[in-house]
Amino acid sequence: MSPIHQAPTASSYWLVGVDVGGTTVSTVLLDENLQSHGELTVATDLTSPDATMLGIVAAIEQTLALDDAPRKLAAIGLGIPGQQDQAQGIVRIAVNLHWYDYPLVERLVAHFGAPCVIENDVRVATLGVYRFDNPAGDQNLAYISIGTGLATGVILEGKLLRGRHGLAGEFGHIIVDPDGPLCNCGARGCLETLVSATAVVRRAREALAQGADGALAALHPLTARGVYDAAATGDAAAQQIVDDVGTELARSLRSVVLAYDVDSVVLGGGVTRAGDRYLQPIVAEWRRQQATSALARAVLRPEILRIADPTRNLGAWGAAALAAELLGE
Ligand SMILES: [Zn+2]
Repeated sequence: MSPIHQAPTASSYWLVGVDVGGTTVSTVLLDENLQSHGELTVATDLTSPDATMLGIVAAIEQTLALDDAPRKLAAIGLGIPGQQDQAQGIVRIAVNLHWYDYPLVERLVAHFGAPCVIENDVRVATLGVYRFDNPAGDQNLAYISIGTGLATGVILEGKLLRGRHGLAGEFGHIIVDPDGPLCNCGARGCLETLVSATAVVRRAREALAQGADGALAALHPLTARGVYDAAATGDAAAQQIVDDVGTELARSLRSVVLAYDVDSVVLGGGVTRAGDRYLQPIVAEWRRQQATSALARAVLRPEILRIADPTRNLGAWGAAALAAELLGE
């Protein structure tokens, strides 16, 4: 596996990458050189587990129709939220999709007659970063997806970490404040309850309840991105939230760096599109730590932090790269 490009092969074929989310299904059609021939996004059909699967089948068929070149479908890769049994091709737990022990790969292979592979969506997006958003060709990187929750994917020496139960990198459920907010997992004060996009909105609601007004009060609807935009206008309450989240995240990213010794830490998810304004409080906390710690000066180098390319659907592209791996490419 090598980043970004592969040598051309004699035969030509299609790879389809699919990013399955609770709201949308996004796809990309790549050729054997991993060049794109089109992308599409459709709404996820959640009326039943089988309807969700048939919606994905239809999306893949529409994707193959984006280019009429006479190539055969070689493989399909899919990124799916939750816990996946890649060896058996079974979606173990995907709560938002209502899939429990769902034999997705068997169904897709029966329909398309091509090999299929599934993997956890954040891990697939991490592969997307490694293959397609990796200008320095880093062989060790961590990707942090920040949305309603927080999850991490890790590539070490060019290999995606999975772990015994496919849970490697579930940093979102590391407990950082035992007295903190209740998490969906049942524990208190997990990292994602403090720094996810959902947590930013909760912090904003708390600030409003305590009398904050100004730009924060003018946000309708109240979104995490809106809070970052309000901070950029100089709103003090919004800036406090941005600083608190950045400080907390900086401490946890320190743990990620120390655990895996990566070349780069890439942050993705809608809220990170605030760009430098998202990174700035994280860097500020790392610099505070550097002031008193030789270890921090050695490992917490701000230049290893960056925001993922927001223009590329890294989930779908990573899924196509996973399909390519299935072919031994
Ligand atoms: Zn949790």
